Amino acid sequence: MIEDKNQTRTSLKELGEFGLIKHLTQNFKIQHKSTVKGVGDDAAVLDMKGMKTLITTDLLIEGVHFDLSYMPLKHLGYKAVMVNLSDVYAMNGNARQITVSIAVSNRFPLEALEELYEGIHLACKTYTIDLIGGDTTSSTTGLLISITAIGEIKKEDVVYRNTAKPNDLLVVTGDLGASYLGLQVLEREKQVFEVNPDSQPDLTAYSYLIERQLKPEARKDIVKLLKDLEVKPTAMIDISDGLSSEILHICTQSKVGCNLYEEKIPLDPQVISTCEEFDLNSTTVALSGGEDYELLFTISQEDFPKIKANPHLTVIGHIVDESLGVNLVTRANQQIKLTAQGWNALENK
Ligand code: ADP
Ligand code: MG
Repeated sequence: MIEDKNQTRTSLKELGEFGLIKHLTQNFKIQHKSTVKGVGDDAAVLDMKGMKTLITTDLLIEGVHFDLSYMPLKHLGYKAVMVNLSDVYAMNGNARQITVSIAVSNRFPLEALEELYEGIHLACKTYTIDLIGGDTTSSTTGLLISITAIGEIKKEDVVYRNTAKPNDLLVVTGDLGASYLGLQVLEREKQVFEVNPDSQPDLTAYSYLIERQLKPEARKDIVKLLKDLEVKPTAMIDISDGLSSEILHICTQSKVGCNLYEEKIPLDPQVISTCEEFDLNSTTVALSGGEDYELLFTISQEDFPKIKANPHLTVIGHIVDESLGVNLVTRANQQIKLTAQGWNALENK
């Protein structure tokens, strides 16, 4: 053990691979009957009892998907789980299990991995998820995390991206653009810190934005809400790359067009004020920002009365015939073709 800035640093070598896995996974409890065998054997065993199984994977790489200089490891662990659960909920399913694979360089002491797993553990407890396995290996430089989420769903409940129909309403949960702005604020503070390490920034004006970037929540509640309201979306997707890219996925795969109304896009007041401060267009940020992890779905018009009073849900447009294209209708009532600017376009600006 070596002492570093009052923090204990235990080298991963001291535990060995198996000791490490045991140490990191010891506090996780199995909560679902469908988990027959979790961590500890060559493979986990699941029993979905006639339900359909949903499987989704994401790979996160240090320096590409996250920057540890402002992303605390606990938050990274939590967010890595959320990113995956969000994909299960976007199928209208219930997330049940995850596997977690990590590659770490010897730059990371045991305490860093404990922090990462604290975030994973919190996510598993909050969302009732079983950790059932993974893999642990070394990397030459950075940290890699790959999570696979497994969900279950009744065959008749599955909602795909390719089944939206003309006249359906386009609905979004929560609000958009905050996570992207949170990242811009954190990047700015990082630069300030590099020039002046004694700076004590007051970030209260951006608290919601930073929370959305560092601790997003997957919309498990919406899957339940829709069930309670007896609404089955005609198509659904989660918003990871930005509203415009996700609308285009639904429209292209469903072979339909869409009118999206700029004035309807839900924005938090902090998004509006911070866009002014950064001289960004809030509509562009909502369309292209990404990492919102909200759900975007279409419903049949006859279901509108069931959702219209709900504060979590906003109707932002409607589906039209493919020949009419995918359009943003601006506040000035102009129609502009939507393009998938996605994340990169904004980043390169
Ligand atoms: P194998 O050599 O058969 O791949 P491992 O020694 O890698 O097995 O893993 C032993 C057990 O620990 C398995 O159940 C595996 O799924 C689990 N496991 C390995 N790494 C992790 C990890 N990072 N997080 C959670 N479980 C893990
Ligand atoms: Mg292995």
